[in-house]
Amino acid sequence: MPKLTTIGTGDAFSSGGRFQSCFHIEWEGPTFLVDCGANAFLNLKRSIVNLDRIQTIFITHFHGDHYGGIPFILLDRKFSPEARSKLEIYGPAGVKERIRNLSECLYPGLGDELVAQENLKIENYSSSEYFEVGEIRILPLPVIHAPDSLPHGLRIELGEKVLAFSGDTEWNGALVELADNADLMMLECNSFSSIVPGHCSYSQMKENADRLKVEKLVLNHFGPEMLANKEGVEISMASDGEEFEF
Ligand SMILES: [Zn+2]
Ligand SMILES: [Zn+2]
Repeated sequence: MPKLTTIGTGDAFSSGGRFQSCFHIEWEGPTFLVDCGANAFLNLKRSIVNLDRIQTIFITHFHGDHYGGIPFILLDRKFSPEARSKLEIYGPAGVKERIRNLSECLYPGLGDELVAQENLKIENYSSSEYFEVGEIRILPLPVIHAPDSLPHGLRIELGEKVLAFSGDTEWNGALVELADNADLMMLECNSFSSIVPGHCSYSQMKENADRLKVEKLVLNHFGPEMLANKEGVEISMASDGEEFEF
């Protein structure tokens, strides 16, 4: 049975001391991550015994709380004494250049080397087009968030099982399509009742949750208002380090 482990369920501000976005998925096919926020790398090392087993990383959009940890994964890989196994990273258009530039800012002189490692592939995905990585089928759909970050939600099909990620977004119809008959959906829910542009609120979620045809809906990416109103929330709220079988 596929298992998702929440590495980071916080927002960009690590509200409530939560790590930034990162999800680890193990199943009979290749182990993979969805997003790796700037500080999620620390919790990834604490939580996951063998990072070498992560063969693929999917990035929803170019905000630091979703891909800021990638240079550290590449640095760790480069300076590891063991030979590293294959790693493939997929993200919105320009992903290789973004990761190269981010790595170069953090470690001047190393940007090119970090993205040119042996056994490493970094590739764009195309919006609204299914692509396949081994036995994994992925549909990236554009969502409504800071446009410069090229925001996407991801529908990830693992054989018969379907996993959906909203990425960061306001409520919009793409969520219904991503969710369609999914076994598990990780949905961002930044605020409780306030409307924050580019993000979902719990009030909107409650109004629209019936439109999401999913087996299990789990909220994440919480801001302070959402955390302060936990008792009033009737949908499952993820914590860092929680496991969901689906
Ligand atoms: Zn975010
Ligand atoms: Zn974002």
